[in-house]
Amino acid sequence: MLHHIPLDKSGPRAKIMAEAVTSCIHCGFCLPTCPTYEVLGDEADSPRGRIFLMKEVLEGRLQPADASEHIDRCLGCVACETSCPSGVHYGALLSSYRSFVPESTSTRSTGAKWRRKLASWTIPYPTRFGIAIRFAGIGRRLAWLTPPALRPMLDLAPRNLEKAVRFAACYPATGNVRGEVMLHLGCAARVLRPDIAMATIRVLNVNGVTVHVPQDQGCCGALHWHIGDSQNATKMARASLQSFGDSDIPIITTAAGCGSGMREYPVMMNDAQDAETVDRFANRVVDVSVYLDKLGIMPPPPVPPVRVAYHDACHLAHAQKVRRQPRELLRSIPGIELVPLQESDLCCGSAGTYNIDQPEIADQLGARKADNIAASKCDIVAMGNIGCQIQIEQNLSKKGLSIPVLHTIQVLDRAYRSEPIATRK
Ligand code: SF4
Ligand code: SF4
Repeated sequence: MLHHIPLDKSGPRAKIMAEAVTSCIHCGFCLPTCPTYEVLGDEADSPRGRIFLMKEVLEGRLQPADASEHIDRCLGCVACETSCPSGVHYGALLSSYRSFVPESTSTRSTGAKWRRKLASWTIPYPTRFGIAIRFAGIGRRLAWLTPPALRPMLDLAPRNLEKAVRFAACYPATGNVRGEVMLHLGCAARVLRPDIAMATIRVLNVNGVTVHVPQDQGCCGALHWHIGDSQNATKMARASLQSFGDSDIPIITTAAGCGSGMREYPVMMNDAQDAETVDRFANRVVDVSVYLDKLGIMPPPPVPPVRVAYHDACHLAHAQKVRRQPRELLRSIPGIELVPLQESDLCCGSAGTYNIDQPEIADQLGARKADNIAASKCDIVAMGNIGCQIQIEQNLSKKGLSIPVLHTIQVLDRAYRSEPIATRK
């Protein structure tokens, strides 16, 4: 007897899922670009295989539990969208499918379920997350007391936290005013690396842009959306709409995952009534590199020679199609040499909570990324996503490599402030 899942057809999600599963022509061009197919070598762990499984479930021929293992192993990196000649919107299909299939049908282990619950209960809430990270330090010292299922979380918790920052409501532009933006701080970034937001503010200010920081902003909901909790994701998206208000002022993001999640609000919120307001909001969201590239930046001063490798965060390169702009910003700094990085757009294994959910596959991808970075002979590695920064830092450190890992905007900020670029802070 097949599990019957009622499908709400009132919003855009049902249409997106139907279009995606029918537009796949099974050509297989996506297979060599899929990290899980690369690692596991199983058709069921490829984009084509997963689309087939989701189609079978949606059309009532397969139990969700029979597809669950393979859908759970998907990173949501959407590299398959980049290589697909048919324009299958795999990312929207995956998130919609995950929100539509009840969690009770999942075949995840109890430990994995607990890790997932704990992650979604802490990471999106800066106060809880800050406390959890500090407790993780104690937990690591008492690892023998920690249930084995929770140990991957302890390993992932960063060891070096920056000093907390209290952000002001407004940072006025210096010199001629050329623009005005609102800054999305990001829940994980503001706890783990508040310097990314401060560097963004300084770089925007020095380029004549006034930065507003809505004080009541919270998590954008991308993390919950990624794991299929559309109820909490929608609640957070509604709160973001309130915090940032309805205007034409661009909303700047510095984390690729948040940016692409907020740009997906029309699907995430699945709201046919408020569709225009939600569309308008989603169109205001722009990655800091895209905003600065379009604005045209003040030439940074020369820096001592430094070799920089650039890692393409999946939700910038594949989801938002942003590759050129961060590279141009880095190249604009005299003294920086951008060195080639093999597999620069292959997922590092971070992928939201993936390194907590699927630590074994995440470890393999993280180690492969660290090897590629080492082979590039770079002095530093730059990127545009906090999740990648943490995952890559830890995988470099596991190999005994102390290559600094910075956000693109931190590199630019250090250049403007004439601070050494290739040193750890
Ligand atoms: S989203 Fe990434 S991991 Fe998932 S099927 Fe596509 S390429 Fe593979
Ligand atoms: S490349 Fe696109 S159309 Fe071809 S199998 Fe993959 S998802 Fe389907």
